Amino acid sequence: MSIAEHSVDATYHKMRERLKDVVPDAELRYKAELAFEINRIKEQRRAVILGHNYMEPALFHSVPDFTGDSLELCRKAAQTNKDPIVFCGVRFMAETAKILNPDKTVLLPSLQAGCSLAASITAEDVRILKKQFPGVPVVTYINTYADVKAECDIVCTSSNAAAVIESFKTDTVIFLPDEYLAKNVARETGKHIIFPSKDPLVGKNENGDIEYKLIGWHGKCEVHEKFTVEDIRNVRKQFPDVVVLAHPECSPEVVEASDYSGSTTAMIKYVEKTKAPRYLLLTECSMGDNIAAENPEKEMLRLCSVRCPHMNQITLEDTLASLRENRYVINVPEDIRVRAHRAVMRMLEIGSPVAAKD
Ligand code: SF4
Repeated sequence: MSIAEHSVDATYHKMRERLKDVVPDAELRYKAELAFEINRIKEQRRAVILGHNYMEPALFHSVPDFTGDSLELCRKAAQTNKDPIVFCGVRFMAETAKILNPDKTVLLPSLQAGCSLAASITAEDVRILKKQFPGVPVVTYINTYADVKAECDIVCTSSNAAAVIESFKTDTVIFLPDEYLAKNVARETGKHIIFPSKDPLVGKNENGDIEYKLIGWHGKCEVHEKFTVEDIRNVRKQFPDVVVLAHPECSPEVVEASDYSGSTTAMIKYVEKTKAPRYLLLTECSMGDNIAAENPEKEMLRLCSVRCPHMNQITLEDTLASLRENRYVINVPEDIRVRAHRAVMRMLEIGSPVAAKD
């Protein structure tokens, strides 16, 4: 994936080939200089760069050795023998890389790269839930910090959430912290759902017995919660042949009104293998640019007011500074790391039915 060319000019031409329709030329020239320098230092330091699908196009198509969604990057982080690992993504992702590579240096180019979902729940919240529902297995979406993962039995991503939930033979599972993903997965797996933090009565039958199967939390992705059914209606009115793709962090109503729902990698694969001329991508805006760059013959409609402010913090400038100055080093206390590692490894052992759900 990385464009490791022998000169700035060669880097520019390679980037231009892919990005001429999505990045203005003057910007590309400047970014090619940064990308060339990053790739030069990366080789010198024997570093590896992991780039999430939501990185801005010029970065995404120039410096990462591997790109993908959280699960794919998690696997790459587990397999790499390079050191340091520079994570062009958000903090919980860099923490996951550290959990899997305790002896390596993991760098995150900006400390501002957080996540509204990860910030929605604390380790103490999970401990309280476990006391409230003793013995019920706890699944956490990967978008949580290491101390939250350490309290949970297993981690999942949007690629494998249903498979992870179904790996438990119990009737009830706690699923944290994304409310919409929980509802979408509940529909897919046929589980009921309750949200103990706000409405503990939901899920009781007429005799007052609790009937829950999936216990959720009220976390939301501040990007995906913005999409509405109205958005889809408006676009369909204008482009009746449009194929609508929604990320499962969107509301169940939006997912229902879409033609397809899956993780970011699943959406990429769907667009690649489908022949439709036009798509509406209900996900982070830069990903739309990245898919457009790979599929120039297809039209990607995207609602570009929706850019993740956290992913947006990671720039080529910061990535260069990160490699030059070894910043910002991500650390996870060892007792937390060991417990979180168990939860992540359980997920990696289950695997991902990417082609199926996604
Ligand atoms: S897109 Fe949503 S889930 Fe992903 S990092 Fe941004 S806020 Fe978090």
